Amino acid sequence: MEIYDVAIVGGGVIGTALFYLLSNYTNIKSEILIEKNSDFGMVNTHEWNNAQTLHFGDIETNYTVEKAKETKVSSEMLEGFLLNTKGLSRDIFKRCNKMVLAVGDSEVEALREKYELLKPVFSYIRYTDNRDIIKRFEPYVVKGRDRSESIAIIQSDNGYMVNFRLLSKDFIRLSRKDKNKKVLLNTKVKDIRYYDGLYRIYTDKAVYSAKIAVLSAGSYSFYFAKRLGYADNLIILPVGGNFYRTTKRFTNGKIYRVERTGIPFAAVHADPEIDMPNTTRFGPTATFSPVLEVRYIRSFLDYLMTLDFNLDTIKSIINILRDKDIIEKLSSSMSYNMPIIGKKAFVDNEARKIIPSLRYDEIYLAKGVGGIRPQIVDEKEHKIKLGTGKIVGEQIIFNITPSPGASACLKIGLSDAYYISKALDLNIELEKLFKDLGKESIMKDILDRISKESFYNNFM
Ligand SMILES: Cc1cc2nc3c(=O)[nH]c(=O)nc-3n(C[C@H](O)[C@H](O)[C@H](O)COP(=O)(O)OP(=O)(O)OC[C@H]3O[C@@H](n4cnc5c(N)ncnc54)[C@H](O)[C@@H]3O)c2cc1C
Repeated sequence: MEIYDVAIVGGGVIGTALFYLLSNYTNIKSEILIEKNSDFGMVNTHEWNNAQTLHFGDIETNYTVEKAKETKVSSEMLEGFLLNTKGLSRDIFKRCNKMVLAVGDSEVEALREKYELLKPVFSYIRYTDNRDIIKRFEPYVVKGRDRSESIAIIQSDNGYMVNFRLLSKDFIRLSRKDKNKKVLLNTKVKDIRYYDGLYRIYTDKAVYSAKIAVLSAGSYSFYFAKRLGYADNLIILPVGGNFYRTTKRFTNGKIYRVERTGIPFAAVHADPEIDMPNTTRFGPTATFSPVLEVRYIRSFLDYLMTLDFNLDTIKSIINILRDKDIIEKLSSSMSYNMPIIGKKAFVDNEARKIIPSLRYDEIYLAKGVGGIRPQIVDEKEHKIKLGTGKIVGEQIIFNITPSPGASACLKIGLSDAYYISKALDLNIELEKLFKDLGKESIMKDILDRISKESFYNNFM
């Protein structure tokens, strides 16, 4: 049987980022990455399944200021990679203007307050309620809008659209490989067991052993965590996100809507697609979708297996249902997927708030598009956790990655690599990494954050 230092399950942007970091910045002797699909980044990392945004926290009004700070440094690592790495795929990213749009007096007031909180963190952001200025950035936001409706924006030039699928392919392509550093496609992990100090990874082709296992398998990381006896106090709320697409381009960059602080999923936004620049995409919606993987019906049963119903589960559900903003979002989103009335409801309630002149015949529900955000619910706190989660057990890590997971892929990968290098007594070239990224200034902040993550505990 082949024994590896590390086995990574999942070839999305999170698993491939770790493979890249271990291969290029540590002296690891052997590693294996196992992916069930025929290529990398085909599930949530695929450009059609996520919103393609490099989230910095500057226009995401649902983040707390602390969450915005953490998102900023995590995304700066990826920004550095995109700007300073030679030989990346063409069209892997594009720079763009971005903004968050408030519509109506109460949103305008909330946005103004948010701006005051965010300005010290993001010196470059601008606030304005002047329609002529807004028009200069995004003419269609103003065109056809009732003059009595107040609007305001926080605007930034620091926007990026990223094709995270191409990024995951590039991570593998740019990794140093040898016969002990393997990548397997078309190989599905069926079971994982731990004995004699090693993980046995049972796939549909062969069994592999590893000293450390890292599950970066999207919602399936959580499924395996439960099977191995972790995550007692956690369940997942899978939130599906669909998109509407238009037949022409309405925006220059990304236009997000204001969202209340603490809501776990981003507001509906409009932007041009990175690979279809002459269209505009509106979304994602947020619907409860009881599956672990989008368009994979069998994963409904696997989702049920992750639910161990108890009193705390019920209390958590009741507590979540008490939040009227979350309920309103989930229930209105459900109607957006319905035939005929869904499109009208979406255009009236969401799309025209951004582009008032949009006509019904210019927009359609995009088929086969959109992914699943595995939102983590803490059954002790009876709350949905904001952002990504990591469960660290005995020589095993499980990454669960709702948004802004893809933006934070290098930070999440570094956190895993840091743990692995300690456990296996490896050298990790941190200075070289941050120098290559052109981000020496954030190294200390990132390492401080990583060192405070509660390894060996459940949730971070
Ligand atoms: C609607 C939506 C919008 C989003 N927008 C953004 C955004 O704008 N910006 C952002 O940063 N993030 C966004 N996200 C989140 C982002 O898409 C994810 O954080 C990211 O793609 C997660 O990457 P991953 O590698 O963990 O998961 P995935 O890309 O899903 O990869 C997991 C991999 O594991 C493989 N796998 C699973 N089970 C097995 C098995 N048994 N054996 C072998 N392989 C297996 C799968 O095939 C898959 O390739 C969004 C998500 C959604 C759903």
